[in-house]
Amino acid sequence: MPSLRVTVWNEYLHELENETVASIYPEGIHATIAAAVAERSGASVRTATLRQDADHGLAPAVLDDTDVLVWWGHKAHGEVSDEVVTRVHQAVLGGMGLVVLHSGHNAKVFHRLMGTNCSLKWREADEKERVWNLAPGHPIMQGVPDHFELPQEEMYGERFDVPEPDELLAISWFQGGEVFRSLCVWQRGHGKVVYFRPGHETYPTYHDANVQTIIANAVTYVAPRLRRSTAGCPMTEPLESVPNWGKEHVLEQGER
Ligand code: ZN
Repeated sequence: MPSLRVTVWNEYLHELENETVASIYPEGIHATIAAAVAERSGASVRTATLRQDADHGLAPAVLDDTDVLVWWGHKAHGEVSDEVVTRVHQAVLGGMGLVVLHSGHNAKVFHRLMGTNCSLKWREADEKERVWNLAPGHPIMQGVPDHFELPQEEMYGERFDVPEPDELLAISWFQGGEVFRSLCVWQRGHGKVVYFRPGHETYPTYHDANVQTIIANAVTYVAPRLRRSTAGCPMTEPLESVPNWGKEHVLEQGER
């Protein structure tokens, strides 16, 4: 069986501008995530970034060759061209898996897929995050304990303005008292979308073993069973003889 084809996309700006972030992710957040996914899932993984590559590294040929796209963005969501957003959106509806991480809740393509503002409360105060596993039997939670802690993270609090998840797999508790639905799955068209909360750039979250396990499992879980465009509404010939159908209808109705 050919290995899963994964593209890890990162805006890759904090790492180039901030010494703390650069010291945690010297090759970029995308490189750390890509290595973890490759090692833990056996997938064939490439990376793409906002400014280093034409089309943000997401040309049509790349998406056609991608089973699952992982997305990390924060400060430059607006720089992602609407053309690329539409391309990714259509790829997901056509079956490509999408794993959106942390501040990717405000990515244009996530907003478009959810149809809501995806807003939340937040605070940067070096708080402990405790992630509670709500679905130990789910494929994404294999190898994940009953709960685990990230010693320091940014707080995200409810209400998270997203549609009711099809699957809610984890809830986070923060030292300051808030809770957050931190691991959610939605079906959109033929594609599956995962949102996973942890991953503020100034903390070593993507080096954490449980976080890596969840991302690798999520990539495997949202792998497409089918890639087929859902765009267009073709007029279709009847399978059996129907009373009022002839060649003139083909000419009249065309494609809508
Ligand atoms: Zn953050």
